Amino acid sequence: MSARRQDGCSVAIVTGAGSGIGRASALALADDGFRIAAADIDEAAAQETAQHIVQAGGEAFALRVDVTREEDCEALVAQAGERWGRLDAAFNNAGIAGYPLLTVEHSLAQWRHVLDVNLTGVFNCLRPQMRAMKRGGGAIVNTASIMGLRGGYGGSAYCASKHGVIGLTKAAALEGGRDGIRVNALCPGYIDTPMTTGADSIFNEKKLDAGIARAAIRRLARPEEVAAMVVWLCSARASYVTGASFTVDGGVTAS
Ligand code: NAP
Repeated sequence: MSARRQDGCSVAIVTGAGSGIGRASALALADDGFRIAAADIDEAAAQETAQHIVQAGGEAFALRVDVTREEDCEALVAQAGERWGRLDAAFNNAGIAGYPLLTVEHSLAQWRHVLDVNLTGVFNCLRPQMRAMKRGGGAIVNTASIMGLRGGYGGSAYCASKHGVIGLTKAAALEGGRDGIRVNALCPGYIDTPMTTGADSIFNEKKLDAGIARAAIRRLARPEEVAAMVVWLCSARASYVTGASFTVDGGVTAS
């Protein structure tokens, strides 16, 4: 099933579109011919992404969306539908790094916060998206992480949330197949975004160096290198690909 329409009217939603992997993917999808609904909890950042797309000759609008709020996610799909009449692709990517804590140190509130954004946020987006794609099919990519494939010392809520995204992706792929809806998970490794290298990052230099040392390609990835996978998964070139998880990790999980 191709997500991309041949008449140049393809429509994609991107959450977490105001920064990092989300912004790079919104720009790359626009470059590939998609009209973009750019959603982020940071409305000004989403606006900036939409402006970049429009300035480059594409079509986009921005919306403040908190993915933990069901009504925000419903409104996002509805607005894309009202404006452009269809939905072909969605990149459910908004997420937070959570807390660098051991399991015994996590409070229940911290656990719930991370699960709410990273896992329930994807669930909230998936439901209206799959309803919207029921007639025409489409492609959905959910951002997990290499921490959805393996354990990580500290940050168990993040690790659990990303394992959950992969499980949710597989179940949704089984359900969507008959309607031509492909659903896949993306598992980035160590990517150079505000989440890892920003001023408020939970990663210090030592942690980042350790991450880089685990990669066969000994550097952080650029967000554009992750976006290239998102574009491929949303394209007709991935027409038989569903229910799978794709690492873009420079070889971290190869060991
Ligand atoms: P980023 O630069 O921090 O971008 C994430 C964006 O999502 C930010 O604009 C953030 O807004 C927004 N956001 C946070 N909570 C939200 C909510 N409740 N509703 C809507 N938007 C929300 O991080 P990134 O590195 O691009 O991460 C994107 C995704 O990749 C995340 O799911 C992350 O877990 C995953 N990932 C990243 C890496 C990495 O190395 N960077 C590795 C594996 C997986 P605020 O800035 O205002 O919070």
